[in-house]
This record gives sequence, structure tokens and C-alpha cells, in this order.
Amino acid sequence: MSRAITPRVAVVTGTSSGIGAAVVAHFCQQGHQVLAVDFNPDGREVAEAAGAVFYQADLTDADACRSAVAEAVSRFGGVDILVNNAGIQHVASIEDFPEAKWRQIIDLMLTAPFLLTQAAWPSMREKGWGRIVNIASVHAQVASPGKAAYISAKHGLIGLTKTAALEGGAQGITANALCPAYVKTPLVDNQIADQAKLHGMEEQEVIEQIMLKNAAVKRLIDPAEVAELVAYLTSDAAGAVTGSSWNIDLGWTAQ
Ligand code: NAD
Repeated sequence: MSRAITPRVAVVTGTSSGIGAAVVAHFCQQGHQVLAVDFNPDGREVAEAAGAVFYQADLTDADACRSAVAEAVSRFGGVDILVNNAGIQHVASIEDFPEAKWRQIIDLMLTAPFLLTQAAWPSMREKGWGRIVNIASVHAQVASPGKAAYISAKHGLIGLTKTAALEGGAQGITANALCPAYVKTPLVDNQIADQAKLHGMEEQEVIEQIMLKNAAVKRLIDPAEVAELVAYLTSDAAGAVTGSSWNIDLGWTAQ
């Protein structure tokens, strides 16, 4: 039996490509009004093709985070759904990790989700309904060498998710994290090259021996598969699901 989907207002970050673009497309198909937020101007074409409104913002900037939510509120009258997805990666050992990269990653992938959550909160509280989905990673559950900042930000994002769930419980606001293994996106394509350099391997060896080493299902994930789970977690049906981390990790953490 299919249920009718209530149209909502959604803010999605990191929407020029990959998982964010897939989430925007899925939300627009569901009839949601979507503000697609990205610093890459190419995101405009992607967003508008899906039927979303594009908002250009560098989310490492605190004021830009607040402005993005303010834009959704003034344009659509509020925010019901927030998907914190924007992310970058930098691969280097701790010894060689540039401090500026560490700060950029923490700003974008931990501080921005906090600021966006904070900015969207009053609107969700007033409506008595809200859905926050934080795109974390299998690297919010386990570590791998060479990714200190990313792994630290993603582990922190689980803490933010749990706290938002506890504070939102009485207000109709849920917060959940999603923990994918390797998804076929530009972020992973770049990592294949970086990891090959770091480990002195061929790129195909990186995919088979590093990325899929712990996977029971030996393939990369499609962004649309992640969008399906985001759609469930932001639905009316998921009102009892909060504070949880959803692994979509090919069986990686089953061992
Ligand atoms: P992607 O590179 O395709 O998308 C990332 C998006 O973030 C891009 O649109 C980029 O322009 C945007 N972005 C980067 N810096 C920004 C900034 N300062 N301000 C605003 N936007 C910015 O990557 P993806 O794989 O789709 O990653 C999306 C999220 O999923 C990330 O948080 C990533 O950590 C997470 N994730 C990805 C994988 C994977 O295997 N691809 C696995 C687990 C988790």
C-alpha cells in the first residue's frame, strides 16, 4: 500500500553532484520544495534541472550557513527538512596533514551542520515537525589511515545527531545519521587517485583491495540508493526513528 507524501520544504547542502544531487532529484520528484545549497556555481544547472531553487554559499562561512536557512524561510515560509550533506576529503597521514585542511574539513562537515541545525530549529519547533538527516559515513563508525580530519568530523556528526534527537524529541523533530560506505561520486573518484598515490598502488587495486576490502557486497553504492533511505528518514512514517545511525555500507561493519 503506498502512502501519500506530504509536500515539505527541504534544505539540502552539497548538491552539485553525487549524493546531494540525488537527494534533491528524489525530493523534487516527491513534490517537496527544495533549496539546494552549494558553493559550486555549476550546482545551479543541476538544481534547476531537478526543479529545485539553487542558493550559492560556501558553508565553511558561518554567516553563509545562516543566510541559506534564512533564504529558505523567506522564500518558502519555513524549513521542514534539513539534509547536511556537503563534504570534502583530504588524504594524508597525520604527520603530513595540513592544519588548514583540518580546519576546513571540520568547519564544513561538523560546524556547518551544527549552524544549519541551529538556524532551522525555530522553524521546525514552531511547526512541531522537523526532520534532520546528517550524511555521515562508515567512517563515522570505523577509521582508516590517512583521513584524520574526515573521520573526526564524521564521528563528531554522530554526536550532534544524537544530541539533536534528544533535544528535538518533545518538539516533533527527529535527527538521524546515515553511514554509507563508498558511493560512486566525484568525491570517491578523487580519492581513488589520492589513495593510489598514498599507498603506491594502481587505481583498480585501490577499489578492490582498499575500498571493497571489508565489503560483503563487492560494488560501489549508487547515490540514488542513499537518496531512497534519506526519503524514508524524512517521511511521516519515520516519526519514531531518531538518534540512530543507518549503515548503508555493503556489510562493512558486520564483521
Ligand atoms: P561530491 O563531491 O559529489 O559532493 C559534495 C558536494 O559538496 C559538492 O556538490 C561540493 O560542491 C559541495 N561542497 C564542497 N565544499 C563545499 C562548501 N565549502 N560549501 C558548500 N558546498 C560545498 O561528494 P559525495 O560523495 O556526494 O559526498 C556527499 C556527502 O556524503 C559528504 O558529506 C561525504 O562525506 C558523504 N559520504 C560520501 C561517501 C562516498 O563514498 N561518496 C561515503 C560516505 C559518506
